[in-house]
Amino acid sequence: MDKLKNGVAGVWGAIYQDLKKKLPDHAMHAWFDSVIPVGFQKNSLVLELPNQFSLEWIESHYKEEITQSINSLFKERVQYRFLVSKSQIKNSFNKRSKERFSRTEAKKFNNLNMKYTFDNFIVGNNNEFAKTASESVSKNPGQQNFNPLIIYGGVGLGKTHLMHAIGNNALKNNPNLNIVNITSEKFTLDFVNSLRKNKTIEFAQNYRSSDILLIDDIQFFRGKEQTQEQFFHTFNVLYQSGKQIVLTADKFPGEMKGLQSRLLSRFQSGLSVDVQPPNFELRVAILLEKAEQNKLTLDYSAIEFIARHIKNNIRELEGTIIRLLAKSSLLNIEIDHQLVTEVVKERAGGSIGNEVSIENIVKKVSQISKIKEHEIVGKSRKMEIAEARQVSMFLCREVMGLSLSNIGMFFGGRDHTTVMHALKTVGEKQISNNRINTMIKSIRKELGFSFL
Ligand code: ADP
Ligand code: MG
Repeated sequence: MDKLKNGVAGVWGAIYQDLKKKLPDHAMHAWFDSVIPVGFQKNSLVLELPNQFSLEWIESHYKEEITQSINSLFKERVQYRFLVSKSQIKNSFNKRSKERFSRTEAKKFNNLNMKYTFDNFIVGNNNEFAKTASESVSKNPGQQNFNPLIIYGGVGLGKTHLMHAIGNNALKNNPNLNIVNITSEKFTLDFVNSLRKNKTIEFAQNYRSSDILLIDDIQFFRGKEQTQEQFFHTFNVLYQSGKQIVLTADKFPGEMKGLQSRLLSRFQSGLSVDVQPPNFELRVAILLEKAEQNKLTLDYSAIEFIARHIKNNIRELEGTIIRLLAKSSLLNIEIDHQLVTEVVKERAGGSIGNEVSIENIVKKVSQISKIKEHEIVGKSRKMEIAEARQVSMFLCREVMGLSLSNIGMFFGGRDHTTVMHALKTVGEKQISNNRINTMIKSIRKELGFSFL
């Protein structure tokens, strides 16, 4: 009963501590550290969450735990509800954003995502120029040579991130700027609505009063002639009065199809910068950073494993980290090599399955042990052959997680107790026998599982 008198912080504090006893650390970090208790009245607790995703996640996965904690802690009935932080100011993801913004200041950020900053944009030679140009534009909007700035490249490579970072940084330097930030679809929709409601003048004024106009994914203007015309006029008005325009697109302007040539020629007066897929080192750097942001502890070898298999897209790298976190929270298990392999397999699709197959394991064991493949899967009990077979079985279990009976079936129709014996023998030899240990390590490495 007393606990209820401790006010909103005390009530949530007690629940938090109780949850901590039940849930793994990473689940607490991922979902509960960012909860802010904002109100407690008539035994009803209001909890603020940084985004809709956490809200849905907690509601669908942890409701029962929360209710149990409440029931065990308080004699009276305590209700709770969640709401999403409007400003997302207290975004726990971005530990580097040290600036504190007041709520009124935050309003001006309209729909800029504050998570996207230059500080947390990791630079490699694939995106260095794009970042430098973006930063320069944000510090000095409207310079002729950089107007418009067009950031182009494939999906998930940081275009939207950079565009928002320009807005965020420009506002930091000059909070009075009017920044209009929009996707090309929203621009089209706004325009169509203004036509419908006879408000095209307001529409035009709204966009033409911006100091910086940010439009994301302009490839979606393709084929929308009237929208392009509106955009062309808006563009001219802004350009002529020295206002900055920043656009993102999936292709170099010269290669964009379905956009009017007068627009494309306007684009050429500015600067186009590209973002390319990240190389291996940048992928590792991004994974390390994203893991840290999400308070996820991963072995370096697991990070390398992910970086080796997920190659084209930074959003995918980030997605892998989130997925790991989600899976381990959902299933209430610690992150180990098996989980990492599983998640990477899900995301990388066939590309890792190609390398990992029983046949491939046998082939690699055969290459190193010089025992023929058909002998490894055959019936011979000769010592060297049996040993190569046992090592193969061991790797099939370890790398592919196959069941004992499936392994037995493949290796000459043996039963699961034989396989179990093989696993035990190899497990022991791995410690006592250097040759076996080296062989296993080198095959794991070739298959991309060096972290096991
Ligand atoms: P695009 O707009 O090119 O499709 P996004 O800007 O939406 O890609 O980027 C996808 C995700 O990857 C975002 O969460 C973004 O923060 C992250 N990201 C992309 N590039 C980087 C980078 N260089 N450093 C850190 N995070 C990045
Ligand atoms: Mg984007």
